[in-house]
Amino acid sequence: MRVLVISDIHANYTAFETVIEDAGKFDAVWCLGDVVGYGPDPNACVELLSEQPNLACVLGNHDVAALGRMPLESFNGDARRSLLWQERVLSADSIEFLETLPQEAMGGEHVTLVHGSPRDPVWEYILNTLSARLNFDAFETDFCFVGHTHVQSMFHMDLERDRVSLDIPRVGLPVELSGRAILNPGSVGQPRDRDPRAAYAIFDTEALTWAPQRVEYDIPSVQARIREAKLPEKHALRLADGW
Ligand code: ZN
Repeated sequence: MRVLVISDIHANYTAFETVIEDAGKFDAVWCLGDVVGYGPDPNACVELLSEQPNLACVLGNHDVAALGRMPLESFNGDARRSLLWQERVLSADSIEFLETLPQEAMGGEHVTLVHGSPRDPVWEYILNTLSARLNFDAFETDFCFVGHTHVQSMFHMDLERDRVSLDIPRVGLPVELSGRAILNPGSVGQPRDRDPRAAYAIFDTEALTWAPQRVEYDIPSVQARIREAKLPEKHALRLADGW
């Protein structure tokens, strides 16, 4: 099975639509949360996501906040302004979809899916080998797919040496997975690794390969909708810089 792995769409419909087109044929979509927050198109993104085949999707911190389940003080001023706006514009269908999402899900037999980390599914950022090492004890499967940092990355655990290394895999080159690994496909709608192209990955469940991908999309049209909706200017500017 060829799986499209995505995360952190952040209400950026243009980036999401471009990723779906660029990914080619896929049998399933695994989404690692933060469908909403920051961007101008929360309802369109939820709708497109809900139409995807064999969808597995977990909750991100922005999704939890948009459902009113988390105090907005946990977010910085600009993120909070976007969330207040989303609470106003989210349709009943979007809310219903987000309300069904779990904090953790299984991707086939081999993969645990969470937004942040297996030990703190909604909030923890896995940014370095220390936090990755601590998290390998918190899931049972060989692999765990995470989002939240908006950085395409891969933490591999060498089982013989009990050592964890961080790799930034080359775009388009499939990596054969072995041992155990924590993998992040990067962010569809707001990349933060100084590469403004939308990020995703293709996971092959039989070959156990992981191929990180990037694709250019029409950033100015998203910036125009952010300004039209009077969302924070910072959220428009950062898209062009990829941070
Ligand atoms: Zn996010």
